[in-house]
Amino acid sequence: EKALEAYPGQVIVDLATLKANMGELVSRVGESGSGAQVMGVVKADAYGHGLIPAALAALAGGATWLGTAQPREALHLRRAGIGPDRCRILTWMYNVDKAPLDDLIRADIDLAVGSLHIIDRVEEAARRVGMPARIHVKVDTGFGRNGFTPQTFDSALEELGPLAAEGVLDVVGLFSHLAVADMPDVPDFVASTDAQIASFEEFVRRLTAAGMRPMIRHLANTAATLSRPDIHYELTRPGIGMYGYEPDPSMGRSADYGLKPAMTLQAQLSTVKDLEAGHGVSYGRTYLTSSDTSTAILPLGYADGIHRSASGFDVEGSTGTIHQGGPVRLMTKQGPRLVRVSGRVCMDQCVLDLEGKAVTLGVGEGDTVVLFGPGRGESFCEPTADDWARAAGTISYEIFTCLRNRIPRLYL
Ligand code: PLP
Repeated sequence: EKALEAYPGQVIVDLATLKANMGELVSRVGESGSGAQVMGVVKADAYGHGLIPAALAALAGGATWLGTAQPREALHLRRAGIGPDRCRILTWMYNVDKAPLDDLIRADIDLAVGSLHIIDRVEEAARRVGMPARIHVKVDTGFGRNGFTPQTFDSALEELGPLAAEGVLDVVGLFSHLAVADMPDVPDFVASTDAQIASFEEFVRRLTAAGMRPMIRHLANTAATLSRPDIHYELTRPGIGMYGYEPDPSMGRSADYGLKPAMTLQAQLSTVKDLEAGHGVSYGRTYLTSSDTSTAILPLGYADGIHRSASGFDVEGSTGTIHQGGPVRLMTKQGPRLVRVSGRVCMDQCVLDLEGKAVTLGVGEGDTVVLFGPGRGESFCEPTADDWARAAGTISYEIFTCLRNRIPRLYL
């Protein structure tokens, strides 16, 4: 409570919503009849929502797996008491030389293996610990990022076969990642995903032919969990959907999928003052007030993770460019109203042009404003992280994950 009072902005995470979103994803997967389980992807501090609270909400919502990119996050989950009896954890593990492999194996965490180098390191660790390492073979079906390609897979099989037979490695899964499943605007988006699926099936066939039957195949992110029941296999890996967003606004509104944003970012206004028409605002004078108005300071800036690219430039500004700044919901005497970041986002603050006199609007210092939240209805004027993503030229994922931990998190 003290931290919340002391800091001029707060992130509020509604864990009941997070749990309900996971429940919705789990029931959609259930409807596909595949019998697949669902992994809550909680990497990057659960997309900025807080690793442990979000993981517990995901499990309460029906997830039976958790996934992290960084091994340390996987270990944090186990150390927080989320044991193997409660759920399986997979870590994709990009920095194998620095990964605490021995600890991961002892903690019964599944490891993604996508290069010969990783196989070698995991083998050494499994022998040191004296326990088999549970691995999921990562394959590149067209993403062009990590994983074995069709060309390097034979070498992988040659190494994996004997290690599996000896019981050093337990090859439990095979997985890949989709490049455009969430982008209906990409012209060949269905064909491209279908090509990845065909490639994935071929990897499955080759692994099986080599005597290792992958019990757990997984390919689907949120987009495919929602729209491709044909590829749920034994496990799906939704991330963004659990936090209440659709991966790409062109897929429609998250509400259409029964999902609701779980995070609200709010702040308390500081300095509210009057400025005459034509007054420059913030660095570079890229925004000039168009009439006698009041401004308020939004006490969050790029050091808090507010994108500088969400700055607002007006038509008469010195750059001559119009760019709508990040939206903020304000409560006035006349009801809720949307105002925008005016001028450049600074390190610790932004300026809002209230487009009216504060005294008439009934707006004052200390008033709580909402940068984004669940987006409750038009009349409520509440922006979502997608609106901020549009203003900043990015995606909602980056809006959440950039929010720095100096903004306190409050859990409902
Ligand atoms: N699986 C892997 C390997 C990922 O890297 C990610 C996130 O990028 C996901 C699943 C979840 O994706 P999304 O948040 O789009 O559902």
